[in-house]
Amino acid sequence: MEGYDHPLPTRRQMLRALMVLPTTLALPAYAGLLGREWTPEVLAQTPGLPPTPVCTDAEDATPRQTEGPYYKQNSPQRTSLVEPGLTGTPLHLTGYVLSRRCQPLARVLLDFWQADARGQYDNLGYRCRGHQFTDDAGRYHLETVVPGLYPGRTRHIHVTVQAPDRPPLTTQLYFPGEPRNGRDGIFNPALVMALQDTTDGKAARFNFVLDIS
Ligand code: FE
Repeated sequence: MEGYDHPLPTRRQMLRALMVLPTTLALPAYAGLLGREWTPEVLAQTPGLPPTPVCTDAEDATPRQTEGPYYKQNSPQRTSLVEPGLTGTPLHLTGYVLSRRCQPLARVLLDFWQADARGQYDNLGYRCRGHQFTDDAGRYHLETVVPGLYPGRTRHIHVTVQAPDRPPLTTQLYFPGEPRNGRDGIFNPALVMALQDTTDGKAARFNFVLDIS
């Protein structure tokens, strides 16, 4: 069944994960940007988010994963899922959407959905759901909270990534060092985000690679 295999990451995937890790020295400045308006100028000046992606011209495409039962169409367009009453550890996720030749892809749709900090999906409304588009440099950023655990799964965020006039890539992002990662049959180490603690919560990085040359 699609998404239920979990191959080991390739050497290239491991290298890419290491390359997107922000440096420890950059963290205070990076953390200070949490909650601020992420204009292109701010993004360009952000330590840990290189002005151009660091990768080779022969990237492996991001693996597909099962959509799961909780996707809802027509999520609101927003880069922050934080709203009144939403509790949990703040999580700021950033990265690029790239072609397999490492070209940043603009105007790519990213539709995120996740459980809240209590491990619950909002299937009536749109809490912890939102879509956005990459900017001209192929960048995205999401303000959210660390999703809670629910029975049978490790900690994860769902996302669909779709370039204009291309088929969608549906996948999931994972957290490093989670005890349940090794017991979740859907977990794929190639989809683990680079994660750092900040003064406000956590900062995560992940670059999506679409099967576009
Ligand atoms: Fe889920």
